[in-house]
Amino acid sequence: MTPTHAARLVRELSQPLVSGAFLAARDRERLLEVLPSATGETLDAFAAAAVAVRRARIGDAASLCAIVSAKSGRCGENCAFCAQSGHYATNAPQHPLLPPERIVAAAAAMARRGVTRFGVVASGKALPDAELESVATALAGIAALPMAADASLGVLSEDALARLKAAGLAAYHHNLETSRAFYPSICTSRTFEDNLEVLRACRRSGIPVCSGGLFGMGETWADRADLALTLLEAGVFSVPVNFLSPIAGTPLANRPVLSRDEARRIVVLLRFLLPDRHIRICGGRPTVFGRDASLAPMAAGADGLMVGDYLTTSGGMPDADRQGLRRLGFVVAQAG
Ligand code: SF4
Repeated sequence: MTPTHAARLVRELSQPLVSGAFLAARDRERLLEVLPSATGETLDAFAAAAVAVRRARIGDAASLCAIVSAKSGRCGENCAFCAQSGHYATNAPQHPLLPPERIVAAAAAMARRGVTRFGVVASGKALPDAELESVATALAGIAALPMAADASLGVLSEDALARLKAAGLAAYHHNLETSRAFYPSICTSRTFEDNLEVLRACRRSGIPVCSGGLFGMGETWADRADLALTLLEAGVFSVPVNFLSPIAGTPLANRPVLSRDEARRIVVLLRFLLPDRHIRICGGRPTVFGRDASLAPMAAGADGLMVGDYLTTSGGMPDADRQGLRRLGFVVAQAG
């Protein structure tokens, strides 16, 4: 395809999205015929179109979120990418649930730096009932700050979700990670359906859902598109995008790190398939983009960033990200 043909295709696919539509099945096929091999001018044209879609459907506000690893390690699940799985010998830190005051102090430090959502994350299939009240206290403390209190605590019952909602939970995070077809290749201790049921339980409980995936595990472009469409149907409002940082000791230790262009293509794909959802770049950003291009995914259609440290890897600091985002034309909350 010549650059001229490619530019026309990009226009044809993106203009309806700018006007408020979603891609029809035939247009999704056309996108998947061209985007996976797009380079140079064509990839730049896709990225510029994705930014235009983001501006039309989401606006110019960039949201910064951060997390605390409230409980780490000792997980019984066998997610092949994860440093915290007890099935693999890794150097991930292990600690029991932090007391609520430490969690709230970590959130307050991020609120002072302009972070507007803060997630309490615990490893494991599900937070035990005995730890629920402690997390509820932490969420109430975070909700009293000028920020949204989010949580990622595994497969919770509707009763547990209701308790957290009453304490101030703003949104629940639970990644689907990848497509239904590819999921058994990365986890066999639970099913894709188990994860989807968490999203459904949140919707039944009236809790907004943040759910996304991890890219670079060996999944195909069809898997990536399937994940996006499942998230669209599941009604998630926010889609965290993680790029694999291969961890020594895990089954994915030897996977190659995605190239920058491949990661940009993934962000473009998600913006084209999820035009009106928040697309938030999270783990793996420094691994893929380094320091010199750390905001490149924001110039490919994303509208949010996780700042500070990730669960088991270090991230960028909010101050530098905030300045870079303003240079890209985003509006970012002031640091307090
Ligand atoms: S991703 Fe979550 S559920 Fe899977 S092994 Fe890691 S901590 Fe456990």
